[in-house]
Amino acid sequence: MGALPGQLTPSFSRLVGQEKARTLLGRALESGQLAHAYLFRGPDGVGKQLFARSLAAAVNCQQRQGMDACGHCPSCRKYSSENHPDFLVISPEKGTIKIDRIREMIQALSYPPYESSVRVVLLEDIHTMRAEAANSLLKTLEEPPDNNLLILTAAAAREVLTTISSRCQVVPFFSLGQEETVQVLLREKPDLDHETAGLLARLSEGCPGQALLFYRSEMVALWREVVALVSDPENDGNRDVGLLLQAAEKMAALKEDLLPLFGLLRIWLRDLLVADCRGQEGDGLVAMGAMGEAPRGINWKHWNSRHLFDKLQAVDRAEKELARNCNRILVCEVLLFQLQQ
Ligand SMILES: [Zn+2]
Repeated sequence: MGALPGQLTPSFSRLVGQEKARTLLGRALESGQLAHAYLFRGPDGVGKQLFARSLAAAVNCQQRQGMDACGHCPSCRKYSSENHPDFLVISPEKGTIKIDRIREMIQALSYPPYESSVRVVLLEDIHTMRAEAANSLLKTLEEPPDNNLLILTAAAAREVLTTISSRCQVVPFFSLGQEETVQVLLREKPDLDHETAGLLARLSEGCPGQALLFYRSEMVALWREVVALVSDPENDGNRDVGLLLQAAEKMAALKEDLLPLFGLLRIWLRDLLVADCRGQEGDGLVAMGAMGEAPRGINWKHWNSRHLFDKLQAVDRAEKELARNCNRILVCEVLLFQLQQ
């Protein structure tokens, strides 16, 4: 089966950063001495899954070039179309990896690979696995049948049972730098402007996968709207109560993206504070940070450091209230009133 148009074989060359993992796996691949099980550990959205898929494709490529799969041999074409009989992916279902999936996988591993020299099994987000499922995996992980390679991934911040991690070679993954993250975002979303990419990179703390999730939501557009609203000197909080209430409703409707929106507000306020401490005009940063396309010379509210600290604290409070499941609309209303003062 040929690759669908536009689909690429997963490849290391598409990965940005992760030099340590690249060196480690590159050496193992070159020398033909891959471990039987790897645990890729790092923050969400930094390339662990792409790395695992690239490794899987490279392992079975018939014309590998350095570390990279060639992209057009029969094996690579099957990887491109996500239809390789010797590549199994097990992902969480409803938030957890089911024990039944592990049992099916163990059963499948008792037969030799269909057509490749090595069968690759990718177990994604194994920190979601409950103890029972994890225990059922241990024996296979310790000693997989010949010609099988297991790749596990886990979020760095989440606990992984030592019985699992001690049976794997652990490969650390890291957040990317600001510029690297921007580079990935602009490549994945060519219509994204550089300034928004920069903001998303900061908000995601160097995790492009997370940044792309934020980008798919209405969050960035709404953040610009909120910034314009609360920094408009014409808005004295009485005349435009209706606008604030409307904005609060829109914010609340973001649901799980509301917390990242608070994160953007924090970045914006922090920028203003830094500018204020350096004695610069804060409005320049507002214009750059939030209103890239707004005409220059527009009038903004001028807040001093004290005001900005208060506003940062208001964002903190809003975050805490959200964590305590307070009424979302109410939390947003209170926050907007405090921000526009
Ligand atoms: Zn190939």
